Amino acid sequence: MIHKREFHDLEKKFDLVVIGGGITGISVAREAAVRGIRVLCVEKNDFACATSSATSKLLHGGLRYLESYEFGLVRESLSERHIMGLAAGHLSRPMQFLVPMFEWSNPGRFIMQMGLSTYDLLAYDRNLGTPEDKQIPPAKWISREEFLKLEPKIESKGLKGGFVYYDYQSTYPERLALAFVKTAVQAGAVMLNHCQATGFGFKAGTKQIESVQIQDTLSGKEYTAKGSVFVNASGPWMDQVLGLAERSPLHKVQKSKGIHLLTDRIIGEQTLFLRNKKGQHCLLLPWEGMTLIGPTDSPYEGSPDDLSPVEEDITMLMDLVNELLPGRPLTREKIRHVPIGIRPLVFSGKSTYRASRKHEIYDHAADQDKIEGLVSVLGGKWTTSRKLGEDVLHACLPKLRSFSPGIQIKDVRTDREPLHGYPTFGASSTEIWEQIALMNHRVPDNVLNHLYTLYGTDYQEVLEIARKEPSLLKRISDEPGRYDIMAQIVYAVENESAHTLSDILSRRLALGSFGYPGDTAAKRAADLAGKLLKWSSSRKTEELKAYRLSYPLERLSTDSKKKK
Ligand SMILES: Cc1cc2nc3c(=O)[nH]c(=O)nc-3n(C[C@H](O)[C@H](O)[C@H](O)COP(=O)(O)OP(=O)(O)OC[C@H]3O[C@@H](n4cnc5c(N)ncnc54)[C@H](O)[C@@H]3O)c2cc1C
Repeated sequence: MIHKREFHDLEKKFDLVVIGGGITGISVAREAAVRGIRVLCVEKNDFACATSSATSKLLHGGLRYLESYEFGLVRESLSERHIMGLAAGHLSRPMQFLVPMFEWSNPGRFIMQMGLSTYDLLAYDRNLGTPEDKQIPPAKWISREEFLKLEPKIESKGLKGGFVYYDYQSTYPERLALAFVKTAVQAGAVMLNHCQATGFGFKAGTKQIESVQIQDTLSGKEYTAKGSVFVNASGPWMDQVLGLAERSPLHKVQKSKGIHLLTDRIIGEQTLFLRNKKGQHCLLLPWEGMTLIGPTDSPYEGSPDDLSPVEEDITMLMDLVNELLPGRPLTREKIRHVPIGIRPLVFSGKSTYRASRKHEIYDHAADQDKIEGLVSVLGGKWTTSRKLGEDVLHACLPKLRSFSPGIQIKDVRTDREPLHGYPTFGASSTEIWEQIALMNHRVPDNVLNHLYTLYGTDYQEVLEIARKEPSLLKRISDEPGRYDIMAQIVYAVENESAHTLSDILSRRLALGSFGYPGDTAAKRAADLAGKLLKWSSSRKTEELKAYRLSYPLERLSTDSKKKK
């Protein structure tokens, strides 16, 4: 359970204060909390609401990074992919990738074979202590006939055959982030969403930070939190947060805009890795009966708060898919959602596509302004976030020992620990599910399986709510394949620090991840959430509007209606 947002928690002094509740900040908070460090993490909106929920939903080694010889990064990512699969088996699964090879393909078969053999080699320990349902076979070549059998929708003209390889899919990154949050809270972290860092306080006459001003973005109230060391983990907002402390912050973040199209299903059960003759490429990933297409990668100069896709982003991806698949299968009507995010990359002077995905940690005592007690972190990938958290914590240890005298730091290794909701590190998710399915829960198997996937062992708590009030077993959406039930709304509000309709539908439940679920389902959810959170009728109307407009596609259609 994530405790209620209680601001009297801020009366004590923290050892570590983390700004930003994307997966980077959450991982740092978790690393600190499990070692017994008093840690506060503040997030101005909701946990994992920004880049961390706009991903390709992959836990991957980054095959593409081999092109720039980043063997260290790929090895680290493959190792973290393995750890994530063992720590949260209910939220990850192996995913098969198909790479077609045409007469004109560049890179051709030989280079691809070299790349995939290296990928396998760097993942030499991928099946060590790994249950059967998470095992990954080596990459292999398949004939043209085998390829067409696996994916008949591919262009057959000029097709020579192709490769099959594997990574993991992260089924619900928002829920995986929440599993990190709950692990941190269980270990004593104070995790506050809807709290924005608005300024820093300095020790009198020094350049040492001793506090951060916080604004509760729901009530507008202001607070001060005291700490010894502060971590700026605000990703795309890094320079802005740094600007709260430094007069002349060096701009370190290189922002890369990335969108996906979530569409009605247009391919089979495997991910397609497609490249055209110009070298442009995209992934078509199967996800919950739909197809996730992308990502794009283009420089972004504006404020992250103003991020929105433009029609050209959507058309560009649609054209690419229709060029690569015969019969131009992707029409505008099939697009249900356009997730969008900003990669916070380390500035390198290279294009955003070529820029490395490695992370960097900055101690601002070394900057021109010589700010003491502030560390920033930038870059990284969702896949490597656990390791990133560990690295940041290690970088902060000397400061913590010096500015929090007497601090006791436990020796803990999170690479062997399960995340909240998963009973044992390395357990078989299939076996856990089979045991659950044998119990008589009196709910349909597809709903039960859905709850287990989202909550792991916490699924029982959701069912307990529905047992006490059977009307809460009702599904929120009438659309087929949407298994969320009303009891999850109660659980989200009472146990998972959900405060807005977007928090509930987009990041606690699955429903919002499929695109705007329609007015009927949204209203049904808002009626119950409104009762629980004591919303006035005007607040409910505002929540419904804000929720609808949180979807880029809805914003685009509202804008185009206004222009007409
Ligand atoms: C299109 C795309 C696809 C991707 N696909 C993958 C993938 O498949 N696999 C993978 O491993 N990685 C992927 N990544 C990379 C991965 O998503 C990012 O590396 C990661 O999510 C970055 O997390 P973050 O916490 O640094 O940033 P964010 O998630 O953006 O979090 C930063 C947080 O800081 C908060 N914040 C900002 N200012 C303040 C303030 N003043 N006070 C309090 N809080 C503040 C923001 O609200 C935000 O929530 C992808 C990225 C993109 C863009």
